[in-house]
Amino acid sequence: MTTPAPSFYFPAPRAQRYCSQCGKPITQRIPPDDNRLRAVCEHCGAVHYQNPRNVVGVLPVWQDKILLCRRAIEPRYDKWTLPAGFMELGETTAQGAMRETQEEAGAQIELGPLYTIIDVPHAEQVHFFYLAKVLSEKLYPGPESIEAGFFSVEDIPWQELAFRTVSTTLEHYIADRATGVFPMHHYDIPYPPPR
Ligand SMILES: [Zn+2]
Repeated sequence: MTTPAPSFYFPAPRAQRYCSQCGKPITQRIPPDDNRLRAVCEHCGAVHYQNPRNVVGVLPVWQDKILLCRRAIEPRYDKWTLPAGFMELGETTAQGAMRETQEEAGAQIELGPLYTIIDVPHAEQVHFFYLAKVLSEKLYPGPESIEAGFFSVEDIPWQELAFRTVSTTLEHYIADRATGVFPMHHYDIPYPPPR
């Protein structure tokens, strides 16, 4: 018996070497009437297009505190995040955001409006965060979280946040809270984080 390789799911494997339709090796070339390199199967003719992935999440608020989860998975193990994750096939962005909040924090929430849309082209992702009201103080963090908890604005662990889409969403929220108006924010994070 061979030992299965340890599974990893981030960064998601994007390089494709074999055709998922027929199993023959893939060629990288620009198909006719196209202008980008694509994974093309010369055997069965399949062109394997790749497109950005959606990450859906929530900014959950309990009274005046914000719900954060400490990650039990890579990347950014041990760092704090808003509940968020990859959208699944067959669900809406709102359903995905609710599901992630349930999985990572076990929090009961009432979903509010879409709050941030963030293009992250270098990561090949678009992130969506909804506002939400937390309905109960009780949290049941799942296996993807070391812990989950509520933070007042003064106590947000800025240096220990997992992702810039999380920190910028929190920055918008804190700025908007001063005015009491929470419009949707759409912006880009065009460059990878500095090493
Ligand atoms: Zn093929």
